[in-house]
Amino acid sequence: MTFKELSQYLERLEKTPSRNEITSILAELFKKSSPGEIDKIVYLVLGNLAPSYQGVVLNIAERMMLRIIAQAYDEDINKIKALYKEKGDLGTVAEELASGEGGSISVGEVYSALIEIANEAGAGSQEKKISRMAKLLGELTPLGARFVARIPVGKLRLGFSDMTILDGLSYMVKGDKSARVEIETAFNVFVDIGVIAKIVKAKGLSGLKGIKPMAGIPIRPSLAERLPSAEKILEKIGPKVAVEPKYDGLRTEVHIFSQDGKRKVSFFSRNLENTTRMFPDLVEATAEIKVKTAIFDAEAIGYDLKTGKFLPFQETVQRKRKHDIEEIAKKLPLKLFVFDILYKDGKSFIDTPFSERRKILETVVGKSGAKLEITRQEITDSAETIRDLIKTYLSEGLEGAMIKKIDAPYKAGARGYHWIKYKKNTGGGVADTIDCLVLGVNKGRGKRAGFGVGAFLVGVRQGEKFKSVSKIGTGLTDEQWRELDKRAKALEVNQKPKEYELHKNLEPDVWVKPSLVVEILADEITKRPIHSAGLALRFPRLIRFRDEKSPEQTTTLSELNKLYQMQKS
Ligand code: ATP
Repeated sequence: MTFKELSQYLERLEKTPSRNEITSILAELFKKSSPGEIDKIVYLVLGNLAPSYQGVVLNIAERMMLRIIAQAYDEDINKIKALYKEKGDLGTVAEELASGEGGSISVGEVYSALIEIANEAGAGSQEKKISRMAKLLGELTPLGARFVARIPVGKLRLGFSDMTILDGLSYMVKGDKSARVEIETAFNVFVDIGVIAKIVKAKGLSGLKGIKPMAGIPIRPSLAERLPSAEKILEKIGPKVAVEPKYDGLRTEVHIFSQDGKRKVSFFSRNLENTTRMFPDLVEATAEIKVKTAIFDAEAIGYDLKTGKFLPFQETVQRKRKHDIEEIAKKLPLKLFVFDILYKDGKSFIDTPFSERRKILETVVGKSGAKLEITRQEITDSAETIRDLIKTYLSEGLEGAMIKKIDAPYKAGARGYHWIKYKKNTGGGVADTIDCLVLGVNKGRGKRAGFGVGAFLVGVRQGEKFKSVSKIGTGLTDEQWRELDKRAKALEVNQKPKEYELHKNLEPDVWVKPSLVVEILADEITKRPIHSAGLALRFPRLIRFRDEKSPEQTTTLSELNKLYQMQKS
């Protein structure tokens, strides 16, 4: 397929608000593409070059992109800056200046050029990136330049995510959504969406039968539901359940495998980014696990070896940084609590009942060390024991308990009652904190003028839409206001993102692109028709910025409805 043709599809996708129509445009695009190019097309329509765990990025910031555009079209940099100020979008600037024929350049050629630019490293790489990218832009049609200029700065957002791609693939092979579950099941254990598309294209659905977890490729994490009492939990998933402490740390999927004859360890975060480099001490600790190939699910948490006390999340999270890692690792030791095993030496345990997985985990991991331990667990059928355990965990400074269905498979990528989380607030007002997306911000007035932001609008997710649920103007510390202002500025867009649905009267001063996730604690959830979610949060407080969550991982409207019902019961 020529890139010119792909650009026309991208334009149609950009203009279309309806998800159903987007899905059928994608299906048409996928039908036209060849097995050799469909993976690249999938990455590009998502605004990427590869699945996020591979960390393939162009590393071209806005300022550099301005220079690239100037060079591509032989224009003065000040003119480009002025144009950008006027248009507010680098894509539109490039489109206006481009005049390339670009008729014959193929998707594969554009993709390879972008990959080469991403791989450019070392001395002089910055300048090489600029000239290569400028050359590429110069060869494209105006429409092609519009989209390619947006990719490096993360602005190629066409208003849909992975799940719509999966629907598009289902439509491609079946003409309807009937194959979505099958395709998603494969994607849950093998998150390279390009490879999934390629297999479906080349071999049809039967090709997916061979998809198994592979050490080195992350599995989408299993997620927990909430219930208001120990009795209700036993009723739902009993008679016997496994009770474990819920650590408030960082979700860490641990992959051990061999590469080029050497043992290799990779860690993946809650949203499947490769975080191995941030945890050299924990990687070292996994040497105790005598296994060739395996995948574990675990939580890493700050732990004071002297006092035996767990550290609060705000401290643990300081380990997530790119620089001075050795130094912070010394200051802030972590411990890895392993609670599940999903794969070992060629065998997947995804469908193995939890009680059996636990036995395997105990034989594989063996003795506990100072930095690595199997999560303690108790099996019980008594509500009183569950309550006592929760009390014990909370008194140890833990977040609460995870209560697990004994015979459940590992539900990759799914939130369900196979795991039930019980936190400090559960059983009180709102049973859980709510992870919301920041939709926009209002400028601060009076005292707040100094902080930039004075209020912000947040939403919850319904499918791929975000519906407003609260406008928050209190409940932040001065430092949090400043931080919010800084983050919102970096994510400002000049138009309402098409995923957002809200009442006109609530429109903020500045729109924020779908990216910033915040954890909100509220006293109550109430019915409020002014918010498009139909519900609102009373007395919301910002608990933390949830960098490890992407917009797709925010609380859904149906979860919020469940929390609303729970507070009434
Ligand atoms: P939360 O805000 O509660 O962490 P979440 O959406 O990130 O929400 P949940 O499904 O609600 O995830 O809770 C599961 C999280 O709890 C896991 O992502 C994991 O990081 C953490 N966790 C801590 N202890 C355990 C445990 N024993 N078993 C499973 N998960 C655990």
